[in-house]
Amino acid sequence: MLRRSGLCMNLEAFCCGFLSLFPKVFVLTVLLWALYGTISELHSHLGLSAASLVFSGLLLSLYLLSMYSYFQVVVVGPGSPLDFPELRLTGGTSTNDHYLLPELNEQNETLLSPRRAPPMEVLVTHTIEKGEPYLRWCPKCNVWKPDRCHHCSNCKRCFLQMDHHCPWFSCCIGFRNHKFFIQFLLYVFVFCGYVLAISLYFLYDFFVKEQYAEHQYLSLTLVFLAVVSFAFFLSVGCFAGFLVYLMLRNLTTIEFQDLRWNYLGDHSAEYEYDSTGKKKSVANFYDLGLKRNWTAVMGDTWWHWLLPISATDEKLTGYKNGLNFEVDEEVFDKYCQNLQLQDRLNAQLMEYRDQLRGRRNQ
Ligand SMILES: [Zn+2]
Ligand SMILES: [Zn+2]
Repeated sequence: MLRRSGLCMNLEAFCCGFLSLFPKVFVLTVLLWALYGTISELHSHLGLSAASLVFSGLLLSLYLLSMYSYFQVVVVGPGSPLDFPELRLTGGTSTNDHYLLPELNEQNETLLSPRRAPPMEVLVTHTIEKGEPYLRWCPKCNVWKPDRCHHCSNCKRCFLQMDHHCPWFSCCIGFRNHKFFIQFLLYVFVFCGYVLAISLYFLYDFFVKEQYAEHQYLSLTLVFLAVVSFAFFLSVGCFAGFLVYLMLRNLTTIEFQDLRWNYLGDHSAEYEYDSTGKKKSVANFYDLGLKRNWTAVMGDTWWHWLLPISATDEKLTGYKNGLNFEVDEEVFDKYCQNLQLQDRLNAQLMEYRDQLRGRRNQ
């Protein structure tokens, strides 16, 4: 029985690994075909001219940048709290109190107490519960979960500042590979726009010069290039635009969905009421303004923005380590005040309910 279940697990792992290859092979094949097709068309229309070489060189550069950023997303990975031994709850040989297992509540999360806290110089939490710092813990990975960290059910692991699980990469997008992911989308967007412009130019040339009247055939490769590049240009462009918008607001896709559909839990503290009683949302306390939100992901200099160079490796301390995040203190204070107010109201309601029950029982 045990042998059979082991065999099934191996077979399942093999099938999952094999299926995860499909999107990678598909992406690489389509891009390689577009590169080869466009360079062939340039060569057949312009010959070995300087213009043909320059256009082909630009296309090849965009292709190589796309491929490099694609592999960086997979190789670098999103980063996990398990990479930090200080945050692991089991397996440590130390008798330090930080390694003691916490008591769990119903949501498999635990209140932070000084005895059980991970080292505060490593981890500062901005999650508050009943006026206390509240630290989440993953029972599957046995690790403390920093702010913005989530467990991926596909990868079966916790990831720092998790954005989403991407089936086209068969991995998660998070703190370390977020920049490469956005750059990959932008490179592919420009690559597809470039292929589309070249193929439309040659198609226009063919019909305007009426070459079909001279019994010349329309290249099917050119038509396919125009159709496929247009489809990718549109879809990748919309997705890249959405992710850049979220990055400029310092929101991950998970946080955006949570704000919109409220699937992670209670959000009453994220709203306030103005003097007329109108409900409005308190700003996101991770939002530090457009420029700082942009540089936090894309790096500080223009060559970091243009080239697929890591913007997180060189600063592994302070706010750029994926464990701690700088917040807008003013908005965070407002958020805490809302929580305290809500707790006081809840306590008053409970007291009132108990009084009513007491009167009924008398
Ligand atoms: Zn986990
Ligand atoms: Zn995942």
